[in-house]
Amino acid sequence: VTSPSDAAAANRLRAGRVLVVGVGGLGHPAALGLATAGVGSIGLVDCDRVDVSNLPRQLLFTIGDLGQPKARIAAERLRQRFGHITIDAFDLRLTAENAAGVLTGYDFVIDATDRPESKFLVHDTAVHLRKPLSHAGVVGERGQALTILPGRSCCLRCLFPQAPTDDEIPTCEAAGVLGPLVGMFGYIQASEAVKCLSGRGDLLTDRLLSVDAGRWRTIALRRDPDCSTCSVHT
Ligand SMILES: [Zn+2]
Repeated sequence: VTSPSDAAAANRLRAGRVLVVGVGGLGHPAALGLATAGVGSIGLVDCDRVDVSNLPRQLLFTIGDLGQPKARIAAERLRQRFGHITIDAFDLRLTAENAAGVLTGYDFVIDATDRPESKFLVHDTAVHLRKPLSHAGVVGERGQALTILPGRSCCLRCLFPQAPTDDEIPTCEAAGVLGPLVGMFGYIQASEAVKCLSGRGDLLTDRLLSVDAGRWRTIALRRDPDCSTCSVHT
């Protein structure tokens, strides 16, 4: 039995548009989670081609897809499975020049990239456009997630005014990664988008979800009222 509030929430999901930046270890489960939850429109951004190293964890790809654009192939596979959903593929690298144009058509942004430079580009663009954003990162056996409602909750720049460079943070490529942990965080990102769009459930705002070698905790965060990125004064 569906209550009226369930129907209203389902309608909001059907009308919702979510952008997934990065169609890798986080982006796969994120996109699948959005599609299975009934989000009506999904955008996928990735400039890479399918590589043999992607096949074990990125289950939308098969050996026959090697060398093909990841965004386009993932979009085709999702359309085959979820014919009622609008899925757009952006086979491009997000840059300071094009990011706002891509993000502007969406209601919620999932950062499923794996490098600090990309993460802060997606983050800063989303905050400037006042788009809710799910941040997540997984390296080794550690993962973290934070949802940002720009101007209302703590953003990454409230925590790190200066973005770390790609050299300062270990990447999955260098440090390896625990596959199921990445999958879990991708689904957490999808569920944050679903909660935000449907207006039901508590978001991971002003608290960082941290999983470290199997230890789960949330760390309370406070917004910096003078943050140069999310402050209403800028
Ligand atoms: Zn901030």
